[in-house]
Amino acid sequence: MGEKLVCAYCGEEIEGEPIRRGPRAYCCEACAFEGSRSTDCAGRTDVSQASLKEELEFRENPPQS
Ligand SMILES: [Zn+2]
Repeated sequence: MGEKLVCAYCGEEIEGEPIRRGPRAYCCEACAFEGSRSTDCAGRTDVSQASLKEELEFRENPPQS
């Protein structure tokens, strides 16, 4: 209770009932549709490329704090 949900697509604060798609919550059906679609389409290639790049950078420069 008291936890504020923001739309996983547009970032607006969700008032009332969120639209849920798996772990994400959206403010409206349109955002849920666009949000899940962009994750499905762009997400996979983005993730594999980004994680590969990050992996290489991580090996070269391990974070030490
Ligand atoms: Zn939204």
